[in-house]
Amino acid sequence: MSTLFVLLAFRFYLCYDRYAFLETLLPGGCVNQDKYNALRINVGFLLHQSVGYKRKFEIDESFVQIESDLDVYDLFGDITFTRTSQGLYSQSDMTARTPLECVRCLSKYDQELTIEINDLFVHPPQKETDPLLSIPKSGIVDLTNLVREYLLLEIPIRPTCGVGCKGLCQICGKEQSEGQCDHPQTMIDPRFEVLHTLLSKA
Ligand SMILES: [Zn+2]
Ligand SMILES: [Zn+2]
Repeated sequence: MSTLFVLLAFRFYLCYDRYAFLETLLPGGCVNQDKYNALRINVGFLLHQSVGYKRKFEIDESFVQIESDLDVYDLFGDITFTRTSQGLYSQSDMTARTPLECVRCLSKYDQELTIEINDLFVHPPQKETDPLLSIPKSGIVDLTNLVREYLLLEIPIRPTCGVGCKGLCQICGKEQSEGQCDHPQTMIDPRFEVLHTLLSKA
């Protein structure tokens, strides 16, 4: 029992440590690590190349959880790093889908997001370098937070499931895209219901 505990504690330690590569030697898997791998790219070797050298990396990930607030499906695209005198210039186009709630009909739908990244990863990093755009000593850049920032900017302020969404009926709450309701289209204040009945009889 205690051996198992030590093994699990060691696994946990490896998951969050720079010796994470050793974890493949142990059974089981880290809770989050697999989801982050697609956006962790080893660019260290590019720093030894001459200016102008470039390399493209494909990104194809069916599910990525970026922090607890952003679930992203079908993250596709590529990123090209070009060696410059100041570091690595990145150019990327990516598309992804994220589940949102329509403000008109309140139904859940998948919003497609398209992002374009054109940023310089500085090397060697300067004091004022944005931490998201610096290349750590390991040579592995983690694009997770950078991609998160770009994706969040693309999320509409008033998400709608489609241009044809007519929203909900204000009287009965039925989705209006599904067709007209059976009830009259004007609602009478219940306090004037009796008056309305008298008038219609007159
Ligand atoms: Zn809608
Ligand atoms: Zn209705």
